[in-house]
Amino acid sequence: METSVETPPRKVNVAEAPEGHTGEGFFATKLDKVIGLARKNSIWPLPFATSCCGIEFMATMASHYDFARFGSERVSFSPRQADLLMVMGTIAKKMGPILKQVYEQMAEPRWVVAVGACASSGGIFDTYSVLQGIDQIIPVDVYVPGCPPRPEQIIDGLMKIQDLVHNESLRRRNSPEYKALLESYGIKTMDN
Ligand code: SF4
Repeated sequence: METSVETPPRKVNVAEAPEGHTGEGFFATKLDKVIGLARKNSIWPLPFATSCCGIEFMATMASHYDFARFGSERVSFSPRQADLLMVMGTIAKKMGPILKQVYEQMAEPRWVVAVGACASSGGIFDTYSVLQGIDQIIPVDVYVPGCPPRPEQIIDGLMKIQDLVHNESLRRRNSPEYKALLESYGIKTMDN
């Protein structure tokens, strides 16, 4: 007797087109929207993992949680080819300058997510040697709470970054507010 096994249809998610005007044979929208859409779905992360939260990130990258669904499977260990700095773990004060150097080597536009209590606030390590949050040395876009956060929370953090990336104006990085933000951290801008 022959048996046939039916393969369920594969669901492929297609990114929604941005707002615009469409007609026969044309679609018009804003350049900001197209670039935002492309960037949002191709964020290359740089994992700066120093301790346990890094292990949680490994689970997030693996097949069950599958970071690749977001176009972010290309993990970059070179700051120059990364869009998103993911800081995961306890950051000792001695390590602060290294983290800042990695951030400075990233090209604009760049985003930062502090994953877990240690990166966000020092966590349980309220001691003389631990940085009480990476936002003391570099600007942070999204904080992920938890000790450690579950992979779902890390994915939620990435999705919040995706929203920021999608809606960011192309002019933001040249704005006086952004330059003032970097200068408040003593980070050089393209103008100086
Ligand atoms: S937040 Fe908790 S799990 Fe994450 S690095 Fe700190 S101690 Fe480890």
